[in-house]
Amino acid sequence: MPAVILKERQASITRGGAGSGAGSGAGGGGCGLGGAAGTGQGQPSGAGIACEQASVAGSVSQRACVFCGARVVLNPITDAFHIVHGPIGCASYTWDIRGSMSSSGELYRHSFSTDMGETDVVFGGERKLARAIDEAVAAHHPPLIFVYATCIAGVIGDDVAAVCKAAEQRHQIRCIPVQAPGFSGHKAIGYRLAGDALMRLFGGQACPREKAHGINFLGDFNLAGEQWIIRNYLKELGIEVLTGITGDSRYETLMRAPQAALNIVQCAGSMHNLARRMHDELGIPWISVSFYGVEDTADSLLRLAEAYGGAQAAARARALCHRERERLAPVLKRYRRRLGGRRAAIYVGGGFKAISLIRQFRELGMETVMVGTQTGRPEDYEVIRSIVSPDCVVLDDANPAELERFMIEGGADILVGGVKERPLAYKLGVAFCDHNHERKHPLAGFVGVQNFAEEINASMNSPVWSYV
Ligand code: SF4
Repeated sequence: MPAVILKERQASITRGGAGSGAGSGAGGGGCGLGGAAGTGQGQPSGAGIACEQASVAGSVSQRACVFCGARVVLNPITDAFHIVHGPIGCASYTWDIRGSMSSSGELYRHSFSTDMGETDVVFGGERKLARAIDEAVAAHHPPLIFVYATCIAGVIGDDVAAVCKAAEQRHQIRCIPVQAPGFSGHKAIGYRLAGDALMRLFGGQACPREKAHGINFLGDFNLAGEQWIIRNYLKELGIEVLTGITGDSRYETLMRAPQAALNIVQCAGSMHNLARRMHDELGIPWISVSFYGVEDTADSLLRLAEAYGGAQAAARARALCHRERERLAPVLKRYRRRLGGRRAAIYVGGGFKAISLIRQFRELGMETVMVGTQTGRPEDYEVIRSIVSPDCVVLDDANPAELERFMIEGGADILVGGVKERPLAYKLGVAFCDHNHERKHPLAGFVGVQNFAEEINASMNSPVWSYV
């Protein structure tokens, strides 16, 4: 008996092996995500799968809504005050399900809502929102407030931008509106809105390029302290990080972002628009990186060192990667003996992670039989298709029934996904690895390679499966 009955076809589906193999981009190497710094040149054409489209009405997409997309990007700003202007249910997207770590304040871990009710729907919620902002300033003195307009505020047409503008003048702090009603698209639209909100925060003043220095780390949210691991590597290379965007960032560090000489972009799905705007409007070039798996971590460090740090940094990067590869070789050999020949299914938020996971499973001797994302871009899918076997099912914006069907067809032994995919795996008696924002242990960098292998092994070779 299937866990979910398929009524409508939701996902766009294709199979592997049809890509152009153009995934290395102008940056070269194994990452498969990198374009030339600044322009994204060298990206594959992206033909072959329908993605970045609205979900089918009536089908239960695994995607979250526009507001969720905006909130997950902005929430890791640790001293910001986030007010959800809508009914209380929207406010359930909180730090508790997005466990980014902070080295300073903890204000961002709270969730605030105007809790709109029937009276607000009839008479409007603007005065209530203004009062909420005044209360927040009086009680917490935040340097920065984000106000998210969710579905109800969007339907009744509250002028959230005007309320925020008045609040900025009243309190002399930044108060940024994020018009993100869930009905206005899908999660990736929320990513774009979050990037636009950050650009409003930065202002349009470009730093003279001769004074530019350091890098910004876009698309890392410091889950389980992963950004700190990567920052340590970069410190060893002699590369200064001005700010994470938005992992472990603060108002003060974010405002340094326009001074950067280079942006590195990990989660391109959430940050591509911001990277493009920072290039076009502030003159900051960017390269794509991924710090998941041995292959992609080493490739990203080497390309970053060459793009920014020069010969000395490149030499240090080679030494660091050699040291870590040596350390990990016996670990991976041990796990390959236990995992080699098994089959993996992947369903994650964005394309960069799916690409790195396919390579990580290959490092463990495993084959990927199904891979999909919620918000992958055409160029991501072309890279994916070029690195999986012809039988591997590649799908965009799937529903649970489709995931179930292709996992069964492919004979998957483990599913990598997030909180919404976990019950599906367990109902099928299949092992599961949480690679989403809820995870509490780092999977990035060389440290994460070992953690990942240990978790995959512990889940797949657990004795519990013999009782299912
Ligand atoms: S779909 Fe609308 S009501 Fe539901 S969580 Fe998103 S913004 Fe809130």
